[in-house]
Formats: sequence, C-alpha cells, structure tokens
Amino acid sequence: MRVIDHMIVGYQGGAGGRTSQVFDPNTGQVQATVNLGTQAELDAAVAVAQAVQPEWAAMNPQRRARVMFRFKDLIEQNMQALAEMLSAEHGKVIDDAKGDIQRGLEVVEVCAGIPHMLKGEYTQGAGPGIDVYSMRQPLGVGAGITPFNFPAMIPMWMFAPAVSVGNTFILKPSERDPSVPNRLCELFLEAGAPKGVLQVVHGDKEMVDAILDHPGIAAVSFVGSSDIAQYVYSRGVAAGKRVQAMGGAKNHGIIMPDADLDMAVNDLIGAAFGSAGERCMALPVAVPVGEETAERLREKLVAAIDTLRVGISTDPQAQYGPVVTAAHKQKVEQWIQTGVDEGAELVVDGRGFKLQGYEDGFFVGPSLFDHVTPEMSAYKEEIFGPVLQIVRAANFEEAVALPSKHQYGNGVAIFTRNGHAAREFTQRVQAGMVGINVPIPVPVSYHSFGGWKRSAFGDHNQYGMEGVRFWTKTKLVTQRWPDGGGTGDSAFIIPTMG
Ligand code: NAD
Repeated sequence: MRVIDHMIVGYQGGAGGRTSQVFDPNTGQVQATVNLGTQAELDAAVAVAQAVQPEWAAMNPQRRARVMFRFKDLIEQNMQALAEMLSAEHGKVIDDAKGDIQRGLEVVEVCAGIPHMLKGEYTQGAGPGIDVYSMRQPLGVGAGITPFNFPAMIPMWMFAPAVSVGNTFILKPSERDPSVPNRLCELFLEAGAPKGVLQVVHGDKEMVDAILDHPGIAAVSFVGSSDIAQYVYSRGVAAGKRVQAMGGAKNHGIIMPDADLDMAVNDLIGAAFGSAGERCMALPVAVPVGEETAERLREKLVAAIDTLRVGISTDPQAQYGPVVTAAHKQKVEQWIQTGVDEGAELVVDGRGFKLQGYEDGFFVGPSLFDHVTPEMSAYKEEIFGPVLQIVRAANFEEAVALPSKHQYGNGVAIFTRNGHAAREFTQRVQAGMVGINVPIPVPVSYHSFGGWKRSAFGDHNQYGMEGVRFWTKTKLVTQRWPDGGGTGDSAFIIPTMG
C-alpha cells in the first residue's frame, strides 16, 4: 500500500501513529494511506521554516519571482500527470482537474510580478524636510489548511502569495486527496526554492489544532466548511494570529423572465453538476422569477439532466465523476431524503445510481428539486453534491431577498438581458462575488476571491493584492534629515504638519 508522508526538511519518514485512508472514488477501493502528523512533526517543520525565513525574505523580490516563473513552467510541463493524480483521488474528470491546476497556476503567474505588488507608497515633503514612506514586510511563518475539493488551486491561492512576499509556508492539505499538494511541493523545490520555504504536513483536527496554537506561526489561511472555518478563525485569533477562514456556500442563480433561457439552462447545469457539485462556487439554487419562467425553466432543466453523462473520472465523455468518499455520498443522499421529508418535490432522483463495472464507486446521479422553500433545512444548508433546487420567486424583490437573507454569501448570479435589473441586483445583493450572465464568478487571479456572511471569517480575500495584504504587514517610516542647523526646542504637543 502506497504511503503518503509529510514533506518536512530533515524528516526521515514513517513517523508512525495514526493514518487515514485515501480512496479511489471510481472503484471505492483504498489506494493509499496518509500519515496523520502530530505536534512533533509540526514543531520540526516550524523550526526549519523559522530558520530559513530571514534569508528568503532578504532575497530581492525579483529573485523570488524567478522561482515563480520556473514553478509555472514545471506545472505546465507536468499538467497531464498532475491532473491524472488529482482526478484519481478527488474523482473530478480530467479536464476539470486541469482547470483546478490552471486556476492555481494563474495565481502563480501573478506572483511572478511580486516586485511590483510589494512596492510601498511615498510622500515627499509631508512636512518641513520630512518624507513619509511605507513598506510591506512578510509576517514570518504562514500556514494554510485546505479542503479536498480543489487540491491544487487552493494550496496555490495561499502559498504563492505567501512565499513570494517573503514568508515561509507550511501547508496542511486535506487528508482525502493529499498527493497533489506533495507533488506541488516537490515541483516548487525543483523550481529553485530553498529547502524549507514550502513544507507539507499531513493530518486532521489534531494537526490543525497544533497549527492554530503554535507560537511560531504568525498567520493561518483556511478554506473549508463554515463551522470549522469559524472554529479555526476563533482559535487562531485567540492565539494572536492573523487568520482568514473561508467557509461553505449556497450560491443562487436568479433567472429573470427576459433571460436567454437556453444559455441560462446550459450554465446552470454545468455549474450545479460539474465536479459532482463539490465546488464552493457551484450553483445549486435556481431562482426563476415568475411562474411562467419557472415552468419553462423546469422543463428545460429536466431535458438537460436527462442527457447528462456520469462516468469514471478518466472517461473523456463524462460530465462529472464520483463524489470523494462513501461517507460524502451517504451525506448527499441523506440531504435528498431530507428535502423529500420537508415537502419539496423531487423531480429527478439521483439516489441509487450505479455505474456498470464500478458498482462500488461513490457515484451520485443528478437530482432536481422543485418547490423548495426558504424554511427547509435542505435549502438552508450546503449539500455539496449534484443536487439542484428550484426556489420560485414571484418577483425581482423576492429573488434579491433570497440570497441576501441566506446564511451564506459566497457567489451569486443573475441571468437577464436587462442592464438596469442587473445593476440593481449587483448593488443590493448580500454576497461577495456576483456574476451577470456568468454562472461561476470566480474572479481572475489579479482580482481576489472571498465571500460574505458565513462564507468567510476574518479580513482580506484570497490572492491578488488582497493576498499580498494578508501575507504582509505595513511599516510606515517618517524621516527627517536635519540640515545641521539644530532642531529647535522640544515639542510637547502632538506633531502636526500645520
Ligand atoms: P472540511 O471543513 O471538512 O475540511 C477542511 C480542512 O479542515 C481539512 O484540511 C481538514 O483536515 C480540516 N478539518 C476537518 N475537520 C476538522 C476539525 N474538526 N477541526 C479542525 N480541522 C478540521 O472541508 P472539506 O469537506 O474538505 O471541503 C468542502 C468545504 O469547503 C465545503 O463547505 C466548501 O463550500 C468549502 N469550500 C469553500 C471555499 C471558499 O473559498 N469559500 C472553497 C472551497 C471549498
């Protein structure tokens, strides 16, 4: 059995202790085990990260950027192999796995321009003979705790900005698909990063708690489910760290009566069922405005779902593959039952789906609910599976209120030809990322990613300038170079520039 181990400088391997199983979601078989680390492994990683950080930070930013350039090249050269590795543990289809890697790679590309992003501000002559300037300095050792659903993109969202500004970084990936993060670490070292700049520790809650409490770690970035995000945020902040913690989501797509319905249906189907719905920017709630829109939408959705092909993750014709584990499949199917029990109409039932030859795989067929209402727990909570819910709204006001009042506020989309409606919606809706005729509005890598409400705790979004702000502290310098003529009398009032 393959063993997936920590990547800590000086670590000899095989620490022993607890392990976790890594499945092949296509077959349901265990394909590897991953060692779950403890305080001892974390202490070793932090000691190395602290030791190498000053030298890494002192290196001029252009040289750090060159590591990013080479890393980008290496990822591109290894794209196919990385995608196969990712798909084999996660279950997303190969092209989608490439998208996962590509969206992380784009953050690396932006970080290749880190010298420009690190520049401070300067004011000449802020007072008599006085200049003021600011600089951004790294925090020290940073840590990232990542979810299973984007095992390439989300680690790169975090470590690319963190290390390019001069921090060293310890990554704690999801124990469900840990191979790609290890491979990324290898490639990063191959790209010329000094040993210890990026290390990987594996583990579960025990390791997460050790990270949150460790006095040698200055900042923690977390992405995962909301209850754990809130816990991570609270405990990390209580330990004096800077913490950003992104949580779950329940993204709505509003379909106005004037929308291009065929386009909206294509977009909804892809965004609801792609990656088996295991995306924080999936679109699992469709909100048609008006009864006529609802009837037309439902008819077209049913027809489109009928053509969906669910297959193994290496099937080039498959639109989506299995979910990540048997436990997750069970959870998704349980939510479908809850929806039925709460009175929603189950139009298409994806439970009990079996793929011939892969009967033990973790497949869930596509499901469609209609007449879902805001009181239902199946609406309030994140299902994170291939389940699309129709919540009918009588008018625009009701449609805007639904995502705005929801506990989550990650992404939201509106499908319309009416610019005024789109503009009103954008201004008023309570969510962090808005798509106008765009179903999955994940901002490009030179903007930044982050939700509102229970979708994100703490300040600063991921990547872009927000990433640079999170991973640095600002220092302001007020300087005066006397002309030798004396400095005058002591001043007992607060200095002003008046
Ligand atoms: P998860 O919360 O189960 O796990 C995330 C991380 O937390 C993992 O590294 C895991 O090892 C660790 N963890 C698990 N249980 C813990 C505990 N009790 N205490 C401390 N740490 C613990 O999330 P997941 O199932 O891996 O990922 C799916 C979730 O992530 C969904 O809710 C999804 O919406 C969310 N997500 C959010 C974003 C975003 O940017 N907002 C992006 C991707 C995924």
